[in-house]
Formats: sequence, C-alpha cells, structure tokens
Amino acid sequence: MKITTKINLITTAWIICVLLAVNAVVFFSFMKITVNMEDSELFQKADYLINEINKEDSQSVIKEKLTPYLTNQSFIRIVQPDAKIINQVTNDQQLASKIKPKFTSEKGTERRTIRLNHQEEQIAIVRVPIQAHGQVVGTLEFGEKLVGLETGKDLLLSILTFCTILGAVLSLLGGRWLSNLIMRPISNMINTMEDIEKSGIPKKIVIQHETKDELQKLAVTFNRMIGRLEENLEKQRQFISDASHELKTPLTVIKSYADLLLRRGLQNEEVAHDAIESIHLEATRIQKMTERFLDLADTESGNRLEAKSINVVALCELIFKQLKSAYKREISLHYQEPDISVVADEVKLKQAIIILIDNAIKYSKDKIDVYLKEKEQWTIISVKDYGIGIPECEIENVFERFYRVDKARSRETGGTGLGLSIAKNIMKQHQGEIIVRSTEGVGTEVELFLPKGRWKGNVFE
Ligand code: ADP
Repeated sequence: MKITTKINLITTAWIICVLLAVNAVVFFSFMKITVNMEDSELFQKADYLINEINKEDSQSVIKEKLTPYLTNQSFIRIVQPDAKIINQVTNDQQLASKIKPKFTSEKGTERRTIRLNHQEEQIAIVRVPIQAHGQVVGTLEFGEKLVGLETGKDLLLSILTFCTILGAVLSLLGGRWLSNLIMRPISNMINTMEDIEKSGIPKKIVIQHETKDELQKLAVTFNRMIGRLEENLEKQRQFISDASHELKTPLTVIKSYADLLLRRGLQNEEVAHDAIESIHLEATRIQKMTERFLDLADTESGNRLEAKSINVVALCELIFKQLKSAYKREISLHYQEPDISVVADEVKLKQAIIILIDNAIKYSKDKIDVYLKEKEQWTIISVKDYGIGIPECEIENVFERFYRVDKARSRETGGTGLGLSIAKNIMKQHQGEIIVRSTEGVGTEVELFLPKGRWKGNVFE
C-alpha cells in the first residue's frame, strides 16, 4: 500500500474515532440534561398542584384544577393508598391505561418505555405524596410522553451523524493534501535515485522550497553525499587520466627502442646495447610507478592499520643502514632520548620515512639530517636536506598526485610525483600531519607529526 494511502486511512480512522467519542459524550450529556430538566419541570407542576387541591374539593372541582396542567400527551391522577385511582384527567386514554397506578409515600420519578400505536415511546412518570395532618393520604401521579425528548434526540442524532460524515470527508481530503505535501519531496528523491540507478551518473535533488524541516535536511544530506561521490569520481577519472599519461612516456620509449632493435639493432652491437639499457630503465620506471599506484590505492582505501608501539630511533637506524649501502650518502640521525616510541603501523611509517629520505637523496647532494623530537602531544620525525629546495609558490602543490616541480629533473631522478601524496595519506591514517618547509637553493625540511595517544584497533583514542 502506498504511504500516502496509509497516512490518509490512518488519519481518517483516527478522526472518525475521535468524532464518535465526542458525539457519544455530547449525546449522552444532552439526554441526561434534558431528562433532568423534564423531571424537575414535572415535579414543580406536581408540587404546585398539591398546594392547589383542597381536601374538601369535589371530584369535578379537582378535575377542573388538574386539567390546565395537562400537556400534549399526558395524564394526571390521584391514587389512593390501595392503588385505586380517585381522580384522573388525561388527553391520551391509551397512554393512561398502559401505566398502572401506584401509591407511594416517597417523592420519585420513573422512566418507562412502552409500545403505543406500534411505536416505542418514552414516558416520564412523577409521583408526589399527598399529605393531610401529617399522614400520606394519596399520591399525585403525573405521566407525560417525552415527545420533545424524542424529537430532540432524533434531531441531535442526525446532526451528529452529519458532522461525523463531514469530519470524515474533510479528514480524507486533508489527509490527502497532507500526505501529498509530505510525500512530494520524498517522491522527488525516489525519482532522482531511480534516475541515478538507470543512468549510473550521480545527480543532486532539486530543492524547490526552503522549508528547513527534516525532509529538506534529508535532501541536503543526500546532495552532500552525491557531491562527495562526484568529487571522488572526478578524482578517480583524473587519476586514471594522469596514470595513463605517466605510463605513456616510458611505454613510447620502450616501443621505439624495440622498433629500433627490430630494424637494425641486432646488426649493431652498440645500438643494441643502448636500446636494451633504455628499455630496462623505462621498464624499471614502470615497475616503480605501478608499485607506487598500489601504495597509493592501499593508503587511500582506509584499510586497518596494524598499529603497535615502535621505537622510532631504532626504526630510523634500520632504514639508514638499508639506504646507506644502496645510496652511499651521509645521513645523520639526531635525537635526545634513545627511546622515542610511537604507536603506529610499522610498515607504513617506514614507507613514509623512506619517501622523505629518498626525496632528500634525489633533490640534494650534501648530507642529510634526520631529527627525532617530542613536542607537546606530537612525536616529530624531520628530514632535512640542503639541496635545490622548492619554490615557495609550489610548496602547497607537492602533495597533489603526479605533481612534480621540475618534470624533466624528476624524470632524471626517477620521481613519479606520488611519494608525498602517499606520505600524506599515511599521516592522515595515523591522524597525524605532514609539513614541508623549503627555500629554493637552500634546502628542504619535511616533518611528520605523529600523535602521542593510543590506538584501539583502527581508532585513535
Ligand atoms: P617524486 O617521486 O617526483 O619525488 P613526490 O611526491 O615525492 O614525487 O614529490 C613531489 C615533488 O616535490 C617532486 O617532484 C619534487 O619536485 C618536489 N620535492 C619533494 N621533495 C623535495 C625535496 N626534498 N627537495 C626538493 N624538491 C622536492
């Protein structure tokens, strides 16, 4: 069942229940108040009559006194203690004969339903004792058909029924309007989502009115989510285009040397040697680049960190040992405490440090200094070189993928433009920071900031 129909039916059913309850209260209150009013009116008449009648009055005089008090369909009679009628006036003989006379020494009312002319009729009977010399000598019985009450009751019932039907119809119309009002933005969202599903292209919801309600909040959140999705898709597209572009150059070089080899290389040993060397160099570059792609994908995927306590002094010494034998460069480690520990993923932290030292080796010729410091809530690993530096206006770009300050030089040194992006991602995973300070022609200092807190699983506490 559609949600609009559901809202409609539920609200209408609820309104009908409320109306029925209100109607019942109105109906029964009306009946009670009217009956009480009728009773007190009859009592008043009876009391008045008792005062009018004298014991000495003859039967005909009494009748004369009683007659003016008769209402439309009623009877008035005096009943003896043996339940016999002494005097009776009526304008509805049938009614009077249906009600048996009754003697009572107490004032009271009685309500009876009798059948008259094949119809059920409500009769009100009031009995008032007649006293003489402190003794009850008879009962004045006043009986009246409650015609007014019956017609009032019928009229009230029809008004209440009409009001209930009107209320139900208005509630149905109102419910429809309300559910349409609520459902319009939801239908809008459903249509947009269906469009996205069909076309596969993220699309935002058009917010027509600024309602500032939960539904608008939902649409705004959805649009924000789509915005991020679009951003990520754009990044992905950009990455594919940049990566293809990066791979194109070495592949073109490999192909042209392979062509050369095919054409004449085998006849000329020197040409063949050069060609094979170049093919090897470019293939190594492609291999390095694909490794970097995988590293980048890994650091961006949000994979769990294998966090544990690491002594950064020991870790750096180990890295230097491995790099020194390969690069033959002077790398000095400076620290105040021999045990500076951080909680981090060892493999990833090592990867980030190697990226910084590798850059320092590539873009400088002098010695390289590595400082290990602790400051407030941070453990800082700083790699400083005294090389070509980075122009100030380029510093903010160096974390972008495939960004290289000097493309030609970078190609010479085997740079891919991905190292600092990977290092930044690693720091982000550790809820840390990476900062580059550089002066062109003087040197560069890159600092890794690691928080000193504790890690619980993949979450930093
Ligand atoms: P690459 O593999 O090209 O070194 P990176 O992302 O590590 O890629 O660095 C981006 C660019 O930033 C480099 O191409 C280089 O121009 C510049 N760069 C990074 N580190 C240094 C440094 N220590 N000295 C000078 N330039 C640097």
